[in-house]
Amino acid sequence: MINQWVKYYKWRILNPVIQCAVCKIPSTLLVCNHCYAELELNLQPYCNYCAKPGSSICTDCQGQHPCFSHTYCCYTYSTPLNKILHDLKYKRNKSNIWALGYLLNKALSSVKADTDFIVPMPLSNERIKQRGFNHALELLAYYCAQLKHIPVKTNIVSKIIDTPHQSGLNRQERIYQQPLFQVEKNIMGKNILIVDDVITTGNTANNLARVLREAGARRVELCALMRTL
Ligand SMILES: [Zn+2]
Ligand SMILES: [Zn+2]
Repeated sequence: MINQWVKYYKWRILNPVIQCAVCKIPSTLLVCNHCYAELELNLQPYCNYCAKPGSSICTDCQGQHPCFSHTYCCYTYSTPLNKILHDLKYKRNKSNIWALGYLLNKALSSVKADTDFIVPMPLSNERIKQRGFNHALELLAYYCAQLKHIPVKTNIVSKIIDTPHQSGLNRQERIYQQPLFQVEKNIMGKNILIVDDVITTGNTANNLARVLREAGARRVELCALMRTL
């Protein structure tokens, strides 16, 4: 595994004063205290399964539990985090990666100690070609995993079909749609944490969680940087 943590420290030694990722004012923090206080938090109470705010179990999850048993998510999908993430994914601006990792790590602070490994949400080979680099999530996951000492595995599962449009499907159909992923390794009895950037419907994460559970994973949870409301 590339040691992102060592890379981070080398970078910080060379750059003791950096810019806040949001306001760009020189700071010793990745996100300065002022900007940090302005971020929109995904506040409790929220659904234990999918982190949708409102109650400890939302109406969707009451009707049909997703295949992941818990979601860790600290922020709502809003400015400026969505812009930082967009620049990272589509303009290959990697300078903010540590800041996003730092913020994602806050969601990871309560991850269970018996988590065996982190699986970043895979992209299809076609999407990797389009973007030119394998998703920011892998880097974010590496960074966070170093802080939590949880290994990151990028060879556990591959994406075999691009996520189709799901607008014409009802919830039941979306949950039981064909598998988009294929498990490549033995994961029998493992506790797995999927890391994604944004949760919207949670359908793709649910599809992955179902594939992992069917392959023998004992527990699958989800961690994401932001959640749409
Ligand atoms: Zn700032
Ligand atoms: Zn829910």
